[in-house]
Amino acid sequence: MSLELSKKAAAVKPSSTLAITARAKELRAQGKDVVGFGAGEPDFDTPENICEAAIAAITEGFTKYTPASGTAELKEAVCKKFREFNHLEYGPDQIVISNGGKHSLTNIFAAILNPGDEVIIPAPYWLSYPEIVKLAGGVPVIVTATEQQDFKLAADDLERAITDRTKAVIINSPNNPTGMLYTEEELRGIADVAVRKDIYVVSDEIYEHLVYGEQRHISIASLGKEIYDRTITCSGLAKSYSMTGWRIGYTGSSREIAKLMGSVQSHQTSNPNSIAQKAAAEALAGPQDSVEVMRAEFDRRRKYVMERIHDMPLVSAVEPKGAFYVFVDASQVIGKKHGGVTVESVSGMADILINEYDTAVVPCGDFGFENHLRLSYAISHDMIRKGMDRIEAFLKELQ
Ligand SMILES: *Cc1c(COP(=O)(O)O)cnc(C)c1O
Repeated sequence: MSLELSKKAAAVKPSSTLAITARAKELRAQGKDVVGFGAGEPDFDTPENICEAAIAAITEGFTKYTPASGTAELKEAVCKKFREFNHLEYGPDQIVISNGGKHSLTNIFAAILNPGDEVIIPAPYWLSYPEIVKLAGGVPVIVTATEQQDFKLAADDLERAITDRTKAVIINSPNNPTGMLYTEEELRGIADVAVRKDIYVVSDEIYEHLVYGEQRHISIASLGKEIYDRTITCSGLAKSYSMTGWRIGYTGSSREIAKLMGSVQSHQTSNPNSIAQKAAAEALAGPQDSVEVMRAEFDRRRKYVMERIHDMPLVSAVEPKGAFYVFVDASQVIGKKHGGVTVESVSGMADILINEYDTAVVPCGDFGFENHLRLSYAISHDMIRKGMDRIEAFLKELQ
């Protein structure tokens, strides 16, 4: 057939992290003892009180359409969480409940972009951002944040990248893939530029509860009225409550933007799953102890991974302060020989690790950093130890 398919769809890169997870699963099915550092999801079960709320929703027949932008109950729970945890005042009509954080981002760009509008994305970035922006007709503009600045966007660099066509900048703190957390001062710098230059800030705070050490998570929208007005705060239940499969995300924004997102969603997906909304309301309004249990366990694993990397040759990492990833600089591996064959790239290194060491890692070319790889510590401590042993063995065999 000669009928042309969508150019927009054809321009989308399939998610390489999902491909790596699939490859690890395939090898496991063949009986291989694979360690998967690719996981983008917590290994914990969804807390029991949350599951029980979902079961009750089914038993009580809460199984029909809800308002397209979410139930009043869940919106209230989101408002309360924004008020108490983020120091942000949003009314229920400023909240849109969606089918996951990724869907919230899709809604945001559908609501704010016109064809050709530019969106500034600091690299390293979550690999879905450029693709989501492109699908909404926007143009991703990548601004690199170096290791010297802990991979965080500098206000000056943001200002330099702004053109007449710039509509928004994406800030992701804590960050995937680096685990970095912006300080209040850094966020104030970015907020000043956004207000002065009149652009939106899309603040992806999905890892807000997974923060380690002294530094606290700060929502950029909480830093003043002017930045509040131009920020769309985006979060979800997947990472903090180990609810990746339930698919609930949400945004806090101006009423005007919330209205547009609600209209778009009402035609594209209708309401998010009614049962999952009940579960999400329990997650946000119910006891929070399980979040702390998971956070503390992630913190132990984080420290262990950092100790191990510190003792390995040829690799290094800046200590992550949040999320559940370590962003490893593997540039010194390039050009070394493994079994007589030169390792040409970090992507090539990842191939050797999966094929010869049964260990899956994520090379970060699709995150805007060719010479780094991402290790997720959302797997058990024993698995982490085994995987770190294998990576160390690989590195020590290099010549
Ligand atoms: C996981 C993730 C999301 C959203 O995930 P959902 O499963 O769609 O809720 C959003 N942003 C980042 C940076 C993530 O890592």
